[in-house]
Amino acid sequence: MPRNPSTPRTRRTLAPATRMMGYGYDPALSEGALKCPVFLTSTFVFRTAEQGKDFFALAYGLRPPRDGEKQGLIYSRLNNPDLEILEDRLTLWDDAEAGAVFASGMAAISTTLLEFAQPGDFVLTSSPIYGGTDHLTEKVLPKFGIRPLKFLAGSSPAEIQALIDRSKARGKIAAVLVETPANPTNRLVDIAACAEIAKRNAPKGRIAPLIVDNTYLGPVFQQPLHHGADLVVYSATKFLGGHSDLIAGAVLGSRELVGRVKALRTFFGCMCGPWTGWLLMRSLETLKLRMTQSQENARQVADFLAAHPAVDRVHYLGHLREGDPQWGLYQRQCKGPGSMISFEVKGGEAEAFRVLNALRVIHLAVSLGGTESLASHPASMTHADIPADRQLQVGITPTLVRLSVGVEDAGDLIADLGQALSKASAKRGPAAAAKSKRGKRRAR
Ligand SMILES: *Cc1c(COP(=O)(O)O)cnc(C)c1O
Repeated sequence: MPRNPSTPRTRRTLAPATRMMGYGYDPALSEGALKCPVFLTSTFVFRTAEQGKDFFALAYGLRPPRDGEKQGLIYSRLNNPDLEILEDRLTLWDDAEAGAVFASGMAAISTTLLEFAQPGDFVLTSSPIYGGTDHLTEKVLPKFGIRPLKFLAGSSPAEIQALIDRSKARGKIAAVLVETPANPTNRLVDIAACAEIAKRNAPKGRIAPLIVDNTYLGPVFQQPLHHGADLVVYSATKFLGGHSDLIAGAVLGSRELVGRVKALRTFFGCMCGPWTGWLLMRSLETLKLRMTQSQENARQVADFLAAHPAVDRVHYLGHLREGDPQWGLYQRQCKGPGSMISFEVKGGEAEAFRVLNALRVIHLAVSLGGTESLASHPASMTHADIPADRQLQVGITPTLVRLSVGVEDAGDLIADLGQALSKASAKRGPAAAAKSKRGKRRAR
């Protein structure tokens, strides 16, 4: 099995950015290939029947693992070298004991919640939260008797506890799932405070894990496990993949909790494939490089937007001011502002659409964290499923535009936003503007 991490000869602890090039992979086990091959195989040959019996005994928990033993390779729904090595590499960034990769971020989130929740339970979540997660907790999990309980991102610990106390008679808290910064408003949730709340309100004899969706800032600019989170979940589709060419997810945390989630993954069969695992390993080699450059570009773009007369408000972590409670929280739990910006165009939906339709370098698409910059309209796209009154309550206004800043030249991005914003209050209709733009594109 190509595992054995090559141990460095010096005492120096190598940083994750360094270890991404080879950690967990032994070339000697793969014909000397420098890079980990793609193990396109559904099953693995046992040397002897006794070995097969031994592997299965461990997989089904019929015997405990021997000292430092890892599960032998059986079948690619259970394990595959591309997934195992990827999982080992992912643990380095978040300082986690174990990891599990999934076919999507939603597969990671739904499998994790279903492992810890039972009928009659509540899942406590921050709001706003990713549209898919919102739908899962509001519409899907209730079919299994698992109900949502939501608090506004930015609520105080006392307000959250009061919400739990009001619902106590109706059910137990199975898990706490928070997204910080919140998608799409960049509101922060206090991870350490939520960890305490999760511990204090866990049902007797059970753990109510604090699960943090770290897709927006992690793993380079935020490590929730250091602040008391039990599990970290990712849409690996975003920064981890980083090139908008794959869908995947991940869960990281203690060996015990990740082991439970991984066991359920085996029976749902929602792991990612070896090719996706290989692509993610390639992406991780440049993760820090990409996230650092995107963050630098975002800083310049956010400053430009904040000074623009057609822009009402910019929601960007790098613009938090001392004295704002969110600023204190940012100082405690974030290592950088990242590259997600949302801003409100002056006017209404029509003005926001005019800006979106006029963009030429920045693509009009949902998703985030890729090398290219993307712009979208949360109210009518990713968060369209949320009723209008709740949208407004959590800050998703009709003029809110979400920007994922990529690694392009910052000057080009600013020029593109500048020309698009100049059309915000243009006289001609949005349909005509979009049409003429499409014509121009085709002519190029
Ligand atoms: C995209 C996203 C998800 C869902 O991930 P998929 O890979 O699309 O399933 C979950 N949380 C956040 C914050 C996201 O941005």
